[in-house]
Amino acid sequence: MHQPVNEFLFGAFALLLGAAVGSFLNVCIYRWPVDLSINRPRRSFCPSCKQPIRWHHNLPLISWLVLGGRCANCGAKISFRYFAVELVTALLFFAVWQRFPWQIAIVYWIFVSLLIIGTFIDFEHFIIPDRVTIGGVIAGVVCSLAVPALMGTDSRVAAGLRALLAAALGYVILLIVLEAGKIAFGRKRIRFDGPTPFSWTKRGEDADFIVGTEESLWSDYFAREKDRLLLQCDEARIDHHTFGNVMLEFRYDRVTANGQLLMLDDVTHISGVARELVIPREAMGRGDLKFLAAIGAFLGWRAVLFSLFAGSLLGSIVGLVTLVVGRPVWSAKLPFGPYLAFGAISWMFFGQIFLRWYAGLLTP
Ligand SMILES: [Zn+2]
Repeated sequence: MHQPVNEFLFGAFALLLGAAVGSFLNVCIYRWPVDLSINRPRRSFCPSCKQPIRWHHNLPLISWLVLGGRCANCGAKISFRYFAVELVTALLFFAVWQRFPWQIAIVYWIFVSLLIIGTFIDFEHFIIPDRVTIGGVIAGVVCSLAVPALMGTDSRVAAGLRALLAAALGYVILLIVLEAGKIAFGRKRIRFDGPTPFSWTKRGEDADFIVGTEESLWSDYFAREKDRLLLQCDEARIDHHTFGNVMLEFRYDRVTANGQLLMLDDVTHISGVARELVIPREAMGRGDLKFLAAIGAFLGWRAVLFSLFAGSLLGSIVGLVTLVVGRPVWSAKLPFGPYLAFGAISWMFFGQIFLRWYAGLLTP
């Protein structure tokens, strides 16, 4: 008789817990990439005025809405991301609670939290910290030992082994894709039909980069610190320096020409005539490999294959849409982590349905 009341209370509890955890995940997303400790300073502070945020201005979901997405102290805009993370976490916590037995639900709460941290850090910084990925592998194996049902068995030993093997599969399969991708498109080499004029002109924090008739923003080419861009030139001028036949090697903040290093901060204009443009980029970071390993440790080997497939599919669709809508043709900015996370969450909720459908295809 009290069943519906209890269910309602537990559901509401899962929602509130999710919102509160989401608020904590926001702290991790903000602090982990810049290596600030989670505990020091203890209280959250405004990214703009650095003032501690008082507790009644720090209520998950509600405060952001009431304050209209602004800091109560200085009025600076507070990113919509804070609200989005809390909302997504709350909804996923609720959905997980409704769907799974409680032991599994608790493990999935941990897993979903890691996915959310990884996704939002990857969006912003194009990395996924080891705390999420390697930490996720360890957490996944430990959880499988504690709740063997995660790996579809009642033996703890078997569950631990399956989690480890699935993690290894995730790492290796993406390593193969990464290496194959390097051969296929790792180096983007664009050989111009003839000598092509180019120019680089500083504009505020960024720069306009024009090659032939192609205009783009400098920051579009660089996602990670180690990204490079090579320009083979017949001639080049960097401010008042002139060079003959030269290879310009760019990083996002510097250029090297004939062994001479110049910081782009000190440069206002570069121009010349180029023959070839090379972007030796990696389509994926190593973080993605470890991220898929963590997915395997929590969800098993089938989820590894499914997440990779579903993630690549969504990635291609998004890639096609941005291509049709216009803009970055040579852009190196391709976070893959969010797509893998999407694949993993789809598997959590719809994996069984997918398997039944797939089995139906095989046995008519
Ligand atoms: Zn402020």
